Amino acid sequence: MTAIHAIAEPAQDPAYAIAMAQFNAVADRLGLDDGMRALLAMPKRELTTNFPVKMDDGSVRVFTGYRTQHNLARGPAKGGIRYHPQVSLSEVRALAMWMTWKCAVVNIPYGGAKGGVAVDPKALSQGELERLTRRYASEISLIIGPHSDIPAPDVNTNARVMSWILDTYSMNVGFSVPGVVTGKPVELGGSQGREEATGRGVAIVAREAMQLMGKPLQGARVVIQGFGNVGSHAARILHQWGSNIIGVSDSSGGVFNPKGLNPSDMEEFRAAGGRYCDYPGNNCITNAELLELPCDILVPAALENQITERNAPSIQAPLIVEGANGPTTPAADAILKERGITVVPDILANAGGVTVSYFEWVQGLEHYFWSLEEVNDKLERIMTHAFNEVAAFSRRESVTMRDAALMLGVQRVVQAVKLRGIFP
Ligand code: GLU
Repeated sequence: MTAIHAIAEPAQDPAYAIAMAQFNAVADRLGLDDGMRALLAMPKRELTTNFPVKMDDGSVRVFTGYRTQHNLARGPAKGGIRYHPQVSLSEVRALAMWMTWKCAVVNIPYGGAKGGVAVDPKALSQGELERLTRRYASEISLIIGPHSDIPAPDVNTNARVMSWILDTYSMNVGFSVPGVVTGKPVELGGSQGREEATGRGVAIVAREAMQLMGKPLQGARVVIQGFGNVGSHAARILHQWGSNIIGVSDSSGGVFNPKGLNPSDMEEFRAAGGRYCDYPGNNCITNAELLELPCDILVPAALENQITERNAPSIQAPLIVEGANGPTTPAADAILKERGITVVPDILANAGGVTVSYFEWVQGLEHYFWSLEEVNDKLERIMTHAFNEVAAFSRRESVTMRDAALMLGVQRVVQAVKLRGIFP
């Protein structure tokens, strides 16, 4: 029997420190007054839930989950749900804040939110995962909804998990509400192209950045940290466009092959039970070594806090495209800037996912669905437009692309708050 004395509150997540340092620097640059600064620094609303789940062995385990809505000035709250042992309220807060800026940067009519459950989903059976998801969905039903707050996939969640949330919410209200989530299966009202959208967006901005730097994408050496939903699709599309994927990794480690890897073959190899390391021609490396490989484009597409002041001096890529949220610390940013390394920031680089989530939501509301070509066309337009706006702002104001994107995003939110006024 375990005696429970207090609810364990994990130490503040590094992501929170990153998000707050970025926000404070931008608030200074924009000269935000104290009231506006306090309003945007804090989440509007957040829910913590400790909920029981029946495990396969008959025991009951209590899990902790969160849903945070950062700011709703520009529209309903939008953001993914992640399942990871390290999930904490402070991490979810940071991720929700980034969603607010991200939706504003690509100018889609949403505020920012994020949710998560502290759990290692790989240690659960399918049944346990379903019961955990349904109970968590039921708990957060208090604040989610197709017009209030719309979840989507994030780290370790997918279309399957979205289907369970859709069904749970619908069972509670008594009719089908497909618009309560995005990133659902196409058969349930999901959008063509949603699954690969974040990776495609990463590939699009990588292509634009290379063009701006006057370098060819053809033959460019690409290294990708994280081979999940973002990294694997970005790898596949960049490979299709003629780049040379020379290094990839997942949470278990990385591989390096100077001759280039074929992302589809690698996926097949893994699906058949192989380890990347054992693939002919591959050299095994650690995740830390991977980030320091000589290459033309580095894509961190795993978790936060990967490029820090410790490894920033050794990064060899002249261009970093952030597929993950919050992979670079502010201290590392300063070093990268000093070293002349271009960073296409997360809130721009990985916005393709939420952009196609927006398309999915619109199609659902209209009950009229678009072809894959139409989706990809519109995604291409939004991503290149946002990239050009951020690049122009960065040139005009002589700031990094991260500062430019944050300034643009925060400014749009400030404007919405001012136009709406303070109630009552
Ligand atoms: N989880 C993704 C992100 O971090 C997508 C969110 C969404 O589609 O709502 O941007």
